[in-house]
Amino acid sequence: MSAPGHAHRSFHDFIARHHRFLLTTHINPDGDGLGSEVAVAHWLRGLGKEARVLNDSIVPAAFLFLGRSLALESWDAALAERRFADAEAVVVLDTSNQQRIGRLGAVLDRHPLPIAVVDHHASHAQGFGLVNVIEPEASSTGEIVYDLIREAGSPMTLEIAEALYVAVMTDTGSFRYSNTDSHAHRMAADLLAQGLDPERIHAQVHSHASAGRLRFFGEVLSALELLEDGRLVVLEAAPEQFQRHGLVGSDTEGLVDMPRTIAGVEVVALFSEVETGKVKVSLRSTGRVEVDEVCTRLGGGGHKHAAGVLMRGPRADAKARVLPELSRLITALEPAPARKA
Ligand code: AMP
Ligand code: MN
Ligand code: MN
Repeated sequence: MSAPGHAHRSFHDFIARHHRFLLTTHINPDGDGLGSEVAVAHWLRGLGKEARVLNDSIVPAAFLFLGRSLALESWDAALAERRFADAEAVVVLDTSNQQRIGRLGAVLDRHPLPIAVVDHHASHAQGFGLVNVIEPEASSTGEIVYDLIREAGSPMTLEIAEALYVAVMTDTGSFRYSNTDSHAHRMAADLLAQGLDPERIHAQVHSHASAGRLRFFGEVLSALELLEDGRLVVLEAAPEQFQRHGLVGSDTEGLVDMPRTIAGVEVVALFSEVETGKVKVSLRSTGRVEVDEVCTRLGGGGHKHAAGVLMRGPRADAKARVLPELSRLITALEPAPARKA
C-alpha cells in the first residue's frame, strides 16, 4: 500500500480519465458497501459521468431505500455481460478481495477493465486494482469516499450525505464500536449539517425485522454458552431454526453483537449453520483480542475486532477449529483492568 495522499491522487486521476463507470461491492452487501456505492454513483453523475451499480447479491430490505433514485442491480449473467461491455472502468467498494465480489469476479477476468478499489479491510491490503485506496484505519469505506469527495471539492448533496451516513452508521454500530473516532464523528456532523434526518435514517435501516427473527434471536441467545470464565461467548444456530422461523443467513445481522453487553466478555463467536454443512462464523472482539487472523487463516477475513469466515462441514467441526484458537488468544491476555465501581 502506498501513502494515502498518493493513492488519493491516483484515484482522482482515475476518475478524471474515464467516463462510464460500473460500481460494485462484496456479496451479501451491507450498509457500508451499498451506501458507498450510492454516494460514489451520485458523485460521478454530478460530474457528468455515467455510473451504474451491479452487485452479486440482492439488496437487503433494510437498504432498499438507498435505491430510490438509482438502480441497484443484482446478478444476472446476461445483464452482467452488458454492464461490463458498456463500462470503461470499475470501482470496487468495501472489499479488496476479488473473491468477495462473487460472480462478478469471473466476468471481470474476461473484461480487462481498469479497476479502482476503495476499502478499509486490512486483509488483502495490496488490493487487486490499478488504483487501490485501502485504509484500515478508516471506520468505514464511506469515510474514505467522504474524504475523496471533499478533496475533489464536489458538492455534498443530501443524497450523497444520506448514503455516507448509512455507511458510517452501520459499520460503527451507530458510533459504538472501536472504529468510531473523531474523524467519523466530524464526518457525521458535516453530513448532518447538509440537512439529513438521523432518526429517520436509523428507523429506515432498523425496522425490517420479522417477529420470527426476534424469536430466533431469543432462542439462540437463551442457549448461549460461556467459556474461559465468561470471557468467551459462543452462540450457534442450526438449519432447522432458520427454516422454522423462515429466515436466511443475513437475518443473523446484529445477533453476534448482543452478548458484547455481558460484563467481562472479550470475544463473541457465532456459528450459524444456514444450510446443512455451510457454517457462517462471525467473531467479535470487545477490544483486546484481534480476531481477524483466525478467520484469515481459514480463508475468511475482516477487521481486528469484527471478522468472519464461511466454513464447509459440520458445525461441531467449525467450533472445534475456531474455539481453541480463541481460547488461546484470550488466555494470553494480561488480566483485564479492574472496572471502576
Ligand atoms: P460479519 O460477521 O459477517 O458481520 O463480518 C464481520 C467482518 O468480517 C466484516 O467486515 C466482513 O467484511 C468480514 N467478513 C465476514 N465474512 C468474511 C469472509 N468470508 N471473508 C472475508 N471477510 C469476511
Ligand atoms: Mn462491508
Ligand atoms: Mn465496511
